[in-house]
Amino acid sequence: MEPRPPSREHVGAAATGLPRSTDASVTQEGAPQGPRRLAYGDGRLNTGLVIEQAVQALADRTQILVFTGAGISTESGIPDYRGPQGLWKRFDPGDYTYDRYVNDPAFRIDTWGKRFHSPFLDAEPNDAHRAVARLREMGRLIGVVTQNIDGLHAAAGLGPESLVELHGNARRIQCIACGNEPPFSDVEDRWESGAVDPECLECGGILKTRVVYFGEQLPPDATIRAWNMAENADAVLVVGSTLSVYPAAFIPLEVTDRGQPMVIVNRGPTDHDARATALVDGDAGTVLPQLADLLAQG
Ligand SMILES: [Zn+2]
Repeated sequence: MEPRPPSREHVGAAATGLPRSTDASVTQEGAPQGPRRLAYGDGRLNTGLVIEQAVQALADRTQILVFTGAGISTESGIPDYRGPQGLWKRFDPGDYTYDRYVNDPAFRIDTWGKRFHSPFLDAEPNDAHRAVARLREMGRLIGVVTQNIDGLHAAAGLGPESLVELHGNARRIQCIACGNEPPFSDVEDRWESGAVDPECLECGGILKTRVVYFGEQLPPDATIRAWNMAENADAVLVVGSTLSVYPAAFIPLEVTDRGQPMVIVNRGPTDHDARATALVDGDAGTVLPQLADLLAQG
């Protein structure tokens, strides 16, 4: 396992000055009273009503930006490294620096070992990934920006033209010297044959998974594509992210800054619930297929 480290610029709700989602804009009977958002998570609302609110927010939208985080992949067996059982409880994120990877062969050997024993390798997309791909097929999306490095959106059938993997992809490998990208399976075969720190066969350089490490910039091409989507989206659907990792979280916030609706599907609160038009507190694999069904009917 080689999780992406948190950004140095990580800030929470306190730093943004935004209030937490505590006000009750919905009555005990469940009728929406407030103009923008629904409170949730206190047992007063049934999920079906909240999904209706989400459907209303997205009903006439055809350029929806879907922004996903670790929560969309937990049902595929990939642990959320920020959650209660998170990997950061077992690994020190400060260990995962680019400089250390380049300069410490023992660290690279350890990293390759974790990579080829990773739960990523056996993970399959779940119903939430498939629902996102379906929304794309329905002509509803401008694209998907993900913080995840597991490659599961692509595995669910989402084409590369519709997908931005902001923090990279753990299934891709690149030489840091010449840029050569050997197939993952070739490097895995060499590792299994005893190459504990497999080098680039083109130039002898250091190979590395295409995952953004601590101390590395986000890939410029991915960042540009993500911003283009955000600047042209007519709504944003956040799935499985607490919106607490920056600069990634600026992408969905750009959409709300332009006055477009934001629907959040997440287990538990996020740092930007106050900006949401509708909040659905639930598992992505349950909520997203329902949402796609209802949008298809509309
Ligand atoms: Zn090379």
